Amino acid sequence: MQQANASSNLLVLGTAQDGGYPHTGCSEDCCREAWKDSNQKRLIASLAVLDGKDCFLVDITPDFKYQLQLIEHHINDKPRISGICITHAHLGHYMGLLELGLEVMNTNDIPVYVMPKMKSFLENNAPFTQLLELNNIRLLALQDNYPIDIFKDVKITPFQVPHRNEYSETVGYRIQSSHQSVLYIPDIDSWDGWDTDINQLIKESDIALLDGTFYDKTELKNRDVSAIPHPSIRESIKQFSTLDKMDRKKVNFTHLNHTNNVLREGSEARKDVIQQGFQIAYDGMVISI
Ligand SMILES: [Zn+2]
Ligand SMILES: [Zn+2]
Ligand SMILES: [Zn+2]
Repeated sequence: MQQANASSNLLVLGTAQDGGYPHTGCSEDCCREAWKDSNQKRLIASLAVLDGKDCFLVDITPDFKYQLQLIEHHINDKPRISGICITHAHLGHYMGLLELGLEVMNTNDIPVYVMPKMKSFLENNAPFTQLLELNNIRLLALQDNYPIDIFKDVKITPFQVPHRNEYSETVGYRIQSSHQSVLYIPDIDSWDGWDTDINQLIKESDIALLDGTFYDKTELKNRDVSAIPHPSIRESIKQFSTLDKMDRKKVNFTHLNHTNNVLREGSEARKDVIQQGFQIAYDGMVISI
C-alpha cells in the first residue's frame, strides 16, 4: 500500500454514511458514545487526492469545513482546491458545494466534474445556480469510463453503478497513478444488480474503498431497509468469498451508517470483518499512490 517514492497521496476525509456519525437526530445506543466523545465521531465519506499543495476532492460533503482542516493539518499548509469529482446527488456527496459560495469561501472558478444528469441538475436548481452565476465553480461533464487527468501522474475514471438515481446518475471512481489503482464505490444498491464483476475489479486494484453502509440488514429498526438498498457487509463478504487473502485485504469498507456495529471498537461485527480478512476504512487514512 505504501510506495516509497510516490508523489501523491490519497487522504480519506470521511467514512460515515450521508448523515455522519453520530447521526443527526439519533439518541439511541449506537450514537450515545459518539455524541460524548469526539474521538469516536466520523465525518461523511469523501476523499482528497493530494499533490503538494494541490488537492482534488472526490465528493464534497456537509462536513467539508472539518475536512478542509484535515487536509491543512495533513499537508501543513493551505491547500489549493484544483478540482472536485462528484459521485451523485445525495446529501452527503455534494452539499459541501454550498460552502464554496458567496456566503462562505467565495471561491473562483473551481472545476467540478460531474456526469451529464448531475450537471443539468446543478445547472437548473437553486442554490447551485448561484455558484455558477458567480463563477464560484465551473461544471465539466464526465463520460462513463472516460478518464480525466487530475495531476501529472494521476487520473480518475468514473463508472456508473446502480443506485437510487432520483436526480442524477451514480458513479464510482477509479483513481490511478503509475504505481497504484484505487477503487472507490461509496454507494451501490447491490453487487448482483451491476453488470460488472466486482471481484474482478478488486483483483485489478491495489485498494478498494467500498460501500459498507450496513453490517447486517436487521440493524435498521425504524426504517424500511428495502427503500435504501445497499449490499450489507455480510452480503459483500459472501460475494467476495472467492477472493484470496491478498485480494480480501484490499477491501476497506466505508460509508458506514451509524447503526453499523463495525463502527464500534470490540464489537462482534468488527471482529468478524477483520477475521475474514477485510478492513474497515477510517478518517485520516492515508494511501500513497
Ligand atoms: Zn451516500
Ligand atoms: Zn445512531
Ligand atoms: Zn446515495
